[in-house]
Amino acid sequence: MIRLAPLCAVASSVLALVVGRSPEDSRNVTQCEENMKKVGVFIAQYESKYRHYPASLADLKEPALISGDCVKFLVCPLDRSGDPCSYEYLHPVCGDAQPQDSISLYDRNAHPDGSRCVLYFSGRVAELAEAEFKHALAEQFARDREIIGDEIVKAGTAALDPALTARKREAAIKRMRILMELER
Ligand SMILES: [Zn+2]
Repeated sequence: MIRLAPLCAVASSVLALVVGRSPEDSRNVTQCEENMKKVGVFIAQYESKYRHYPASLADLKEPALISGDCVKFLVCPLDRSGDPCSYEYLHPVCGDAQPQDSISLYDRNAHPDGSRCVLYFSGRVAELAEAEFKHALAEQFARDREIIGDEIVKAGTAALDPALTARKREAAIKRMRILMELER
């Protein structure tokens, strides 16, 4: 029961945004979600080929890797920044064991009405209002930091792949930087 309250809050705050939205903006949000689903498929294809997740979205641009052009799915139609990639990618800190409700991709810049689309590790996409987005990311980063902390402690007593540990540490540093930017 405790977990129901935040879910209701998410539903109502996104609804408030949707009510005042033009048909064009609605289509653009749908397009953004479709982009994310496509990028999620590319990430899955990369993982099945290399048995590890891409370090960054740039890894998906290898022409021989996947059929189709990933680049055209990397720009959100509501992103006015002119950046060739609208999305921030979060490398999973524990591979396939990453919780399915972790966010793996999100709009780096909020849409003009303050919402952001997110792709979950499960492949599901959703649109979140800004407050809910920040809350979800902060919770996820706190959880990831616990996982990374445990791994580093274990590394002191048992043999652990050093490259994996380095990747996890990089992922943790990136997450802390993102949180600091969001909290500004
Ligand atoms: Zn978007």
